[in-house]
Amino acid sequence: MTPESSNPEPLIEVKNLKKFFPIRKGLFGKVVGHVKAVDDVSFHVGRGETLGLVGESGCGKTTAGRSVLRLIEPTAGSVIVEGVDFLKLEGETLRAKRKDLQIIFQDPYGSLNPRMTVGAIVGEGMVVHGLAKGEELTRRVKDLLHKVGLNPNHYNRYPHEFSGGQRQRIGVARALAVSPKFIVCDEPVSALDVSIQAQIINLLAELRDEFHLSYLFVAHDLSVVEHLSNRVAVMYLGKIVETATSEDLYRSPQHPYTQALLDAIPVADPKKKRDRLTLKGDVPSPVNPPSGCYFHPRCPLAEEKCRVEAPPWVDCGGSHFAACHLVKPGGGGADIHAAKGSTAPNP
Ligand code: SF4
Repeated sequence: MTPESSNPEPLIEVKNLKKFFPIRKGLFGKVVGHVKAVDDVSFHVGRGETLGLVGESGCGKTTAGRSVLRLIEPTAGSVIVEGVDFLKLEGETLRAKRKDLQIIFQDPYGSLNPRMTVGAIVGEGMVVHGLAKGEELTRRVKDLLHKVGLNPNHYNRYPHEFSGGQRQRIGVARALAVSPKFIVCDEPVSALDVSIQAQIINLLAELRDEFHLSYLFVAHDLSVVEHLSNRVAVMYLGKIVETATSEDLYRSPQHPYTQALLDAIPVADPKKKRDRLTLKGDVPSPVNPPSGCYFHPRCPLAEEKCRVEAPPWVDCGGSHFAACHLVKPGGGGADIHAAKGSTAPNP
């Protein structure tokens, strides 16, 4: 059994998604290799559900999110949206379907055109898709600004007149403007102050519940996705290595990599001592990934089998799956704290 075979009725179903970037050399640009940024990734997101996609920088999570939306064309795989393969659409049908799938970018500074007013930025999608014009357009944009916690009277202001948190609210309003069903939230709070992060996460949660939205919430920090996500998928070197409900993953992480990521989250209480564990070495290159389990060069529990054989999915029970040779069916079997002399990942 795999995570996707236990799938109820999803809004969006990503199957065997791959994105390989060619490495070219020489005068004629001969392809000499590939960066395997996303390597056979499958997941689903239900209606009104949030899936957190988490991993260290460079694990391929942002590329996966953008490939789903075809902001980057995937190398292989399928993205089934309400029964239709989004990757096979072309021309007018593709343009019309794009309305349902939106993105909120990481960088609230770079993602807004500095020459456009806030009203024009938020209203652009409605104009492009022919959803509103004239006074109706203005009214709907002002309603949206109010909805995301901005002053509707700032309709004619420019992005540089707003703070980072306010700009991200503009990005949220822009994504919502075309009434999407699914939004990729691409590290939407990692460029913001910690005090503002909670406000934006709460806003996203409120909007999800009000408009019955589905999110793919991409983040490098497990503590950020905990509050918002119903389920979490952990990625390492282009592959998903563990997936579970949010509660299960934080309470009982099975994969050694997930355990190490959770260990790296700082604890607010200085009196509370923890048996923290850090992983040795750097993330290997996705150009030439390790044999067997991709995590074996850094895993404190690695055995000979891990070096030669890719681990299968293990059903840990209750929609919890981990790809590790040591994890037992039903859970248990892999505990990095049992290994001595290791060091934490640096997400
Ligand atoms: Fe570690 Fe082996 Fe499990 Fe990979 S399969 S995570 S190397 S124990």
